[in-house]
Amino acid sequence: MNNAMGTGQATNVSPDQATVCCRGASNALGHPAVYLTFAEQSTVQCYYCGCKYTQAPTDGDNPQAAE
Ligand SMILES: [Zn+2]
Repeated sequence: MNNAMGTGQATNVSPDQATVCCRGASNALGHPAVYLTFAEQSTVQCYYCGCKYTQAPTDGDNPQAAE
C-alpha cells in the first residue's frame, strides 16, 4: 500500500460506506475530520483538501489488467 493521497487521484471506498471520513493529506497538517456523504452520486470531493472519494466495488470484482 502507498499513501499517495492528495495527488488528484480518487480514493476508492467500499460501496457499503454511506459516508467517508477525511482528515486531510498524510502529512501532519491535514484538516479537521469531516464526514463526506455519498448522496446520489458515487463520488464526493472533500471541500477542505480536495481529495476525491469514489465508491468502488471491492468484493466480487476482480479487475484484470488487460494487456
Ligand atoms: Zn480532506
